[in-house]
Amino acid sequence: MDRTFPMTRAAGLDRLTAFLAEAGADYAASRNTDAGPGGRTTTSALSPYLRRRLITEAEVVSAAEAAFGDGGAEKFVSEVFWRTYFKGHLETHPAAWTDFLALAAADRGRLAAEPGLRRTHAMAIEGRTGIDGFDDWARELVETGWLHNHARMWFASIWIFTLRLPWALGADFFLRHLLDGDPASNTLSWRWVAGLHTRGKHYVARAENIRRYTNGRFDPVGLDEYPDSLDEPMPPREVALPVADTPPPGDVALLIHLDDLHPESLPLAGARVARVGGLLAHAPGASDRVRAADAAALADALDRAGAHFGCEAGPATGDWSGDRPVVTAWAPVGPSAEGLPAGCLRVRRAWDEAAWPFSTRGYSRLRSRIPQVVSA
Ligand SMILES: Cc1cc2nc3c(=O)[nH]c(=O)nc-3n(C[C@H](O)[C@H](O)[C@H](O)COP(=O)(O)OP(=O)(O)OC[C@H]3O[C@@H](n4cnc5c(N)ncnc54)[C@H](O)[C@@H]3O)c2cc1C
Repeated sequence: MDRTFPMTRAAGLDRLTAFLAEAGADYAASRNTDAGPGGRTTTSALSPYLRRRLITEAEVVSAAEAAFGDGGAEKFVSEVFWRTYFKGHLETHPAAWTDFLALAAADRGRLAAEPGLRRTHAMAIEGRTGIDGFDDWARELVETGWLHNHARMWFASIWIFTLRLPWALGADFFLRHLLDGDPASNTLSWRWVAGLHTRGKHYVARAENIRRYTNGRFDPVGLDEYPDSLDEPMPPREVALPVADTPPPGDVALLIHLDDLHPESLPLAGARVARVGGLLAHAPGASDRVRAADAAALADALDRAGAHFGCEAGPATGDWSGDRPVVTAWAPVGPSAEGLPAGCLRVRRAWDEAAWPFSTRGYSRLRSRIPQVVSA
């Protein structure tokens, strides 16, 4: 599988076309198999593009439904909606993100004070635990910036339940290296594996399952296959979904950021974009590879935006916006939202507006509304 991810919209669309022509037809049956970096692709590997919205969920879903029909695309569409669900869930449970950041900082402090923990952590992130598969995934993540979904699940489960390492340090390790590193999907997936998202329901990695879905490449021994799930005293509190703004008519300055890099399709109503600025806010601790990908993706979006709106486009520094009102795509909980200037007007896509109100509890509520969201 090609693990180079040129961070342009054109490269994302090429990958989508290749997926529809190749692995897409067999997706539902083969998506659980991880054939490894040199093996056959079983999933789309579109996540670095979707995470930054270089391509949007709406266009990916519509292309899959056009290629395979509603029934043939159902499993793939449902997986795309996991991303939408996690985004909406974190918007209404922002403490899951801030608690994770605080936990990870506290756990990093523990590493300095506890030599045993420090040793196990170092062996885990350097791929030296001796656990078949786990060590390979640790190295694969650092070397390529991407892991198959099943490998992420096995890795997180072994990290938490066999190595007994703090889950927040694992989520932190992923966020530093994943090219699709996302505050919502990453934090909530780690919480889900631990049994904190759906309380008491944890994901347990089993040797037999790993052998089977890696085509026998890995055969780990010594896994704890009967652990209890984790618990926490205070689950993240639900808050009301913040209301989006309406773009004003007339000249505006458009601020684009790493959570939405397709400004051409933003719902800007009567606003006229007279200047475009780019905000580069990386995930905390992001690796050089992730930072370079972020910068390339933003540069691509600025080029397209400048051409599309017929105005100057560059980094949002100094007095880039002039006296114009600043409009931006909604930045979900995470570094971009934290970096937005005060007073800017945040517009939300119809996709998120339709889906997020159904993302406050479990996924099944949103799943039953997928046709409704897609038509919105
Ligand atoms: C511990 C753990 C951490 C994760 N961290 C991230 C992360 O930081 N960023 C991220 O984008 N995904 C994350 N995921 C979800 C999932 O593993 C990836 O989205 C998926 O592997 C991307 O591969 P793909 O593009 O080939 O997916 P495909 O199977 O081709 O699916 C298409 C798209 O749907 C979305 N999607 C699919 N499965 C999931 C899922 N389970 N959860 C959320 N979205 C999904 C992705 O945007 C993906 O690109 C994590 C999963 C686990 C278990």
